[in-house]
Amino acid sequence: MRYLVTGGAGFIGSHLCEALLQAEHRVLVVDDFSTGRQQNIAHLEGRKDFELICADVADTDVARDCVRGVDRVFHLASAVGVELIIREPIRTIETMVGGAAAVFDAAARYRKPVLFTSTSEVYGKSPKVPFRESDDLVIGSPTYRRWSYATAKALDEFLALAHWHHSRLPVVITRLFNTVGPRQSGQYGMVLPRFVRQALLGRPITVYGDGSQSRCFCHVRDVVSALARLIDTPAAHGQVFNVGNDREIAIGELAAMVRSMTGSRSEIVHVPYQEAYGAGFEDMERRVPDLSKLRGLIGYAPRFTLERTIEDVVAYVKGQLEGETR
Ligand code: UDP
Repeated sequence: MRYLVTGGAGFIGSHLCEALLQAEHRVLVVDDFSTGRQQNIAHLEGRKDFELICADVADTDVARDCVRGVDRVFHLASAVGVELIIREPIRTIETMVGGAAAVFDAAARYRKPVLFTSTSEVYGKSPKVPFRESDDLVIGSPTYRRWSYATAKALDEFLALAHWHHSRLPVVITRLFNTVGPRQSGQYGMVLPRFVRQALLGRPITVYGDGSQSRCFCHVRDVVSALARLIDTPAAHGQVFNVGNDREIAIGELAAMVRSMTGSRSEIVHVPYQEAYGAGFEDMERRVPDLSKLRGLIGYAPRFTLERTIEDVVAYVKGQLEGETR
């Protein structure tokens, strides 16, 4: 099969490409390198079964040209990271809505199954933990810029489902919960690569707020294997799935774990949200997936423990730091 991966030079996209190539499929990546990085896919370039186009998928002609020649579409291209979203809200909204519209339109035109990666952010401030796919979305006020990301992704979900209802276009919507692993950059705010880098450099580990807020971290390789299986499962079409790991950990506890696993002497410091993100920021207290729907359909069970996941991130960040000092 030939797969299109939009955003294939990104952190998750590059792992998905690897998994598809390993299963002997061919892969076409389209990426505009806004947050994707050439180094994420450098080891794949030059292979006969791998092709890269540097372009913006929100361009209708680009989307049609790419989608026409493939069997299946993974639409991952998106703005990413809370920091970037707060810093550049216009670009965030425009790329997310425009990109999905162009890709879904092309998929509908050529009748190609499409899997869309949405986000657990869409559950917003819902107090009902764990989150189930059928739950209400409790997104905050537009005066808090953070919520533009969840709103744009939610709109993309509506659009994908509209194509399913309108023409039975096979679409799968996945809501990813804090995906982590090698190649994730801390540049856009993601907590684990930041903590690991801080710990390895002996710098203060910056816990925002009081550190009692919690997340569930899932190894990127568990995530991409679920995505690859879902797109080929007809019963998944027209459906929404949580994808992640349901082990919950407080951010303060994560900082302590990273510190001890790296043997670091870094101090753990608390930074007020206002200082970290500027005024007008709301965090979510807990974010835990209910994975029973995914488990029920494809027998999903994450293989990577949090400890192993942190080890993989530590090894990756060490390699990066060595490269920086050479
Ligand atoms: N966070 C933190 N220190 C950092 C970066 C993030 O304490 O240097 C916190 C952040 O406020 C949030 C959690 O870690 O409560 C996860 O943040 P991330 O941006 O990785 O993902 P989110 O779940 O917010 O999308």
